Amino acid sequence: MSFVLVLDTTHRPLNPVHPGHARRLLTQGKAAVWRRFPFTLILNQSLPVAPTTPLRLKLDPGSRTTGVAVVNDATGQVVFAAEITHRGQQIHDALLARHAVRRSRRQRQTHYRPARFANRRRPAEWAPPSLESRLANVLTWVARLRRLCPVGAISQELVRFDTQLLQDAEISGVAYQQRELAGYEVREYLLEKWGRRCAYCGVTGVPLQIENIVPRARGGSNRVSNLTLACCPCNCAKGSQTAEEFGHPAIQRQAKTPLKDATAVNATRWALFHRLGATGLPVEVGTGGRTKWNRTQRGLPKTHWLDAACVGASTPSRLLTRAIRPVQITATGHGNRQMCGTDRYGFPIRHRTRHKRFVGFQTGDIVRAVVTQGKKVGVYEGRVLVRASGSFDIRTSAGRQTSINARYCLPLHRNDGYTYHASTRAQQRDLEAMTPVNAAAFIGASDASPA
Ligand SMILES: [Zn+2]
Repeated sequence: MSFVLVLDTTHRPLNPVHPGHARRLLTQGKAAVWRRFPFTLILNQSLPVAPTTPLRLKLDPGSRTTGVAVVNDATGQVVFAAEITHRGQQIHDALLARHAVRRSRRQRQTHYRPARFANRRRPAEWAPPSLESRLANVLTWVARLRRLCPVGAISQELVRFDTQLLQDAEISGVAYQQRELAGYEVREYLLEKWGRRCAYCGVTGVPLQIENIVPRARGGSNRVSNLTLACCPCNCAKGSQTAEEFGHPAIQRQAKTPLKDATAVNATRWALFHRLGATGLPVEVGTGGRTKWNRTQRGLPKTHWLDAACVGASTPSRLLTRAIRPVQITATGHGNRQMCGTDRYGFPIRHRTRHKRFVGFQTGDIVRAVVTQGKKVGVYEGRVLVRASGSFDIRTSAGRQTSINARYCLPLHRNDGYTYHASTRAQQRDLEAMTPVNAAAFIGASDASPA
């Protein structure tokens, strides 16, 4: 289990504590639960001069998932870890759907109006909404974690590979063999360039060897442009033939074309770098090659949060990760402003009220329902979907439970634009031993309230 974050009564973040310590604070009545995700306690006293250890917030931004780790540099202890799943594709799809509805409405209703489509100006730091959402997700969690624990510095993986080291390798030819880290940069570059597969037979998921397109034996160099990746059988079969002689002239052509996609990924990383700099904290950057090197040196498996913990040159030589369970965070957004839903032909079929909150609940709240009567007797916990009628649906780990009355529901965590998954719920069950919900008292209370 991860450490428990602690605030004093004035919301000053203190050092995170061991779960056992947190349990004692709760049972002795010295603290209360402030937030479920990430699990945070608030003390009932103010500690304005209690010393805190500055922690390092480490980020490994990805296009689908971003790894987050909070590390104590002095001890090497990972105190908190999370994996944020972004909704870039969902935003892309939603904007396409909106575009189609607007286009169709324009065709039907305003087709005499002159077209005015080129009348917008984009700000200099504009990013497409799907990318902007990824940036916003990361910055939201940086801000939240800064409020909950004493963050003193940030580390960010900035690029996949260091072009400077790569240049060295290209110029001096053998530099990548002499410097371990540089070798990793070259390897990362090649993996990206050749799509993480054998260039000759296309096999994936096997160890790949760096291969000279024009072999060393035939005077080929170790320049990056002469390197590709091959599986062991292909590398042996090719022997001292060139790629062209081996029957792959396309490889020889592709070797000359530079990498294009990496720039798109790197663009958001740079935007994130500039915005992290605006927080005023010192921002350290590291390359993906270094992250991988750090992780391999410490014998850690590949996950997003462990990658985050290994970002940058500041990584402690020993990382304590035992029993750390990352919080699985998925971005869900805050609903939409569409007042009129349409069918797939753009025909209006449903209308919404101006209200989002019904009987004290909002779609996206995480609730626990203790149903005591009727066909659905049981305990359900999960994200709620609200209706004006007060009959809610709850998405539990076992599936969707329909028609649960609002009066059985107790809010655990109010909607904050994210939802929290499996390992968190398991963690939640551990935590419930600490904070027993008095179900009987709660049911009595909610029965009395006008539901
Ligand atoms: Zn092969």
